[in-house]
Amino acid sequence: MGTRRCDNLLSGGACGRRLPNKSTLRYFSEAGIFAVLFLACPPLLQESVMAQSSVAAPKTAQPLTSAQLNDSMKRLQTELLAKYGEAQKPRLSTGLHQVMEFWRPEDGDVGAFESFVRTNYAGDQESLDTMFSRFQRLLEQLDGHMHEISREFATQQDLDFGPIRSYDEIFGGYDPSAHVIDDFFKNKLAFIVLLNFPLTTLEERINEGPKWTRRQWAETRLAERFSKRIPADVNLAIAQAGGDAGNYIARYNVWMYHLVDDKGQRLFPPEMRLLSHWNLRDEIKADYGDAQNGLTKQRMIQQVMERIVSQSIPQVVIDNPQIDWNPFTNEVKPAAAQDSNSPAKPDAKITNAPEPDLRYATLLKTYRASRMADPYSPPAPTLIDRRFNEDREIPEERLKSMLEQVLTSPLVPQVAKLIESRLGRPLEPFDVWYAGFRPGSKYSEAELDAAVAKEYPTPEAYQKDIPNLLVKLGFAPERARYVADHIIVDPARGSGHAMGAEMRSEKSHLRTRVAKTGMNYKGFNIAVHEMGHNVEQTFSLNDVDYTLLQGVPNTAFTEALAFVFQAQDLSLLGLAAPDPKNDALKTLNDFWGTYEIAGVALVDMAVWHWMYDHPEATPTQLRDATVQIAKDTWNRYYAPVFGRKDVVLLAIYSHMIDSFLYLPDYPMGHLIAFQIEEQIKKSGSIGPEFERMAKMGRVTPDLWMENATGKPVSADALLCATAEALKQPGIQ
Ligand SMILES: [Zn+2]
Repeated sequence: MGTRRCDNLLSGGACGRRLPNKSTLRYFSEAGIFAVLFLACPPLLQESVMAQSSVAAPKTAQPLTSAQLNDSMKRLQTELLAKYGEAQKPRLSTGLHQVMEFWRPEDGDVGAFESFVRTNYAGDQESLDTMFSRFQRLLEQLDGHMHEISREFATQQDLDFGPIRSYDEIFGGYDPSAHVIDDFFKNKLAFIVLLNFPLTTLEERINEGPKWTRRQWAETRLAERFSKRIPADVNLAIAQAGGDAGNYIARYNVWMYHLVDDKGQRLFPPEMRLLSHWNLRDEIKADYGDAQNGLTKQRMIQQVMERIVSQSIPQVVIDNPQIDWNPFTNEVKPAAAQDSNSPAKPDAKITNAPEPDLRYATLLKTYRASRMADPYSPPAPTLIDRRFNEDREIPEERLKSMLEQVLTSPLVPQVAKLIESRLGRPLEPFDVWYAGFRPGSKYSEAELDAAVAKEYPTPEAYQKDIPNLLVKLGFAPERARYVADHIIVDPARGSGHAMGAEMRSEKSHLRTRVAKTGMNYKGFNIAVHEMGHNVEQTFSLNDVDYTLLQGVPNTAFTEALAFVFQAQDLSLLGLAAPDPKNDALKTLNDFWGTYEIAGVALVDMAVWHWMYDHPEATPTQLRDATVQIAKDTWNRYYAPVFGRKDVVLLAIYSHMIDSFLYLPDYPMGHLIAFQIEEQIKKSGSIGPEFERMAKMGRVTPDLWMENATGKPVSADALLCATAEALKQPGIQ
């Protein structure tokens, strides 16, 4: 699982997620889902959180050759099979190969290798059981205490405790576990695991996993921690490329007041500075509410986005309030009106010379850095493999076919038609971001704020009410008390987040924002979401049978479970009545959002394949390929309902540039969330069903979902509910 910390992300707040301060060895499944809506919020990059020490290799007198290792292996096999019996043959052979694969000259000569194997092979069940239990217990301690240090070090940054000093930031940025993987290879604990417990492929986990015992699953997760041994300089290069890409994206602002149309008119207000693509997209969504100028503004933003993708955007207009720009003609002029104090860029010549393919040069750098890790990750030798087979644990082909199922669904033209009738005009390409299916509310924000502030004047008041809230959600009083005892409420500096524990002696933390005047509705909505995380964290750590299986399959699952809570916020305040029309609108909103992001994800996937197929490509070649991939994807899945071809909007997401093949997490997250929500609806009561699901631990997504709902991960739940929603009266 992830960092056991989640900021509330889909609820509309700015994302305050910090880069992972990873305090555990479990660097798999780091693909954070739903990471961002408004701000660049990098996903958790598996490689960058791993060991980063660089210690010169001691020269051994006799470095091992592979011939020597092979001889050695034969000798050891004969000797150990004589000692422990022939039945050990497959296990021993696997273990020896796994050790060999990672053994380097600095780990020792032939003698050292042989003596290591003789000493550490657990050839009988009792020794193996002892070894398993010891590693499980001590790794829980390691993870738990490392996490505890990280949490404490970040306290001043994360909580509302007054000014942040320079040293607080250094404490907050420190990762005590940064060198753990290196250390464990050096002191050979990693090799002991590799000698005794098997690494598995995703295929094996999917095909054979359902027949495994829980202990076998725990052993699999134990071995996986050591499936990579990436050198420090490679990790640094990846972190560097990720950081550079993040900086490129973070500065990519468009000054909206300086967009002018053919008549020189300014459609957007002064000082509006929008970050690509998040803010641009959200402005398109907001403009549906502007009856007068909304459509013109949306068209203009689409034009800006297309110029960013095709890199015909003039370099000089990027993050520059000193230039007026007509994105249709691509004309640039010195700003005729000022809305900023920032001085003109000194030697900026005012021409519309395009940005020189920097977008694609940046993406290429992340690809080239990722590729450096490939040789050190034998079970998953490309970034694509690592993302799908390790982080997501859903084969790429399977995810692709689920996305295509949504994209080619006959429901798409039906929902498209409904949107056209609601808008009263034919669809335009930016309507992939149509935001009009938002359910209405009976209560004003002010009424809700007042109700919440009365109930929760302080964080302590919320803490005290947790058992009561959980009972309202269907937990038995004694389970509610048990969970509440595992949650500590802290005053958040930002909008709020949940930080789980990594060992059973620790509690999970719910960070929530409470103003002097009491909690407001938005804060409550977020707190309920985060509480969902805390409840999942409590069950999936304390009530799972093996701590090595702690967590859920990936971040999509923890988010889905948190949304189940969040959706109940009004009923927890006693203000909700069942409303089938609102439910239908919510479903249609989910469907259209999944349809949009599914295409974006397919573009991201195709672009990474193209880079791996063209390792020597130039930025310009990558630009042309990306534009073509975006057009092809559009023409296939969107042009038929939008009536326009060759649109490149699907390639606008900034994640594509700085997030290492992260975008497929979004549509996968939508499908998973929908499936879980439907199951909980069916069961009638949240509490017991939630607990049953959360105790399954970190197995593959499909196995988890089979256990939870009787079916593997699929698009069916979303599609069925959408078909039903379309029949709901009053949604026109
Ligand atoms: Zn969350």
